[in-house]
Amino acid sequence: MPRCTFCGEDIEKGTGKMFVHNSGKLDYFCTNRCEKNLFKLHRSPLQTRWTKKYALEHGRSGKNKL
Ligand SMILES: [Zn+2]
Repeated sequence: MPRCTFCGEDIEKGTGKMFVHNSGKLDYFCTNRCEKNLFKLHRSPLQTRWTKKYALEHGRSGKNKL
């Protein structure tokens, strides 16, 4: 199962979007919002509060390290 390139969420089969770069690299997006944030807004998922990557980076996944 692919994960969203931007936010890190698992993408269910039949949903989301795959983007193929000229280089052959693949990007997956769970929503248009993720695609827009990466390509148009050039945001880092680690600095975008609603992403799973942000939650993991900042210890909000419920598994806080002491
Ligand atoms: Zn996403």
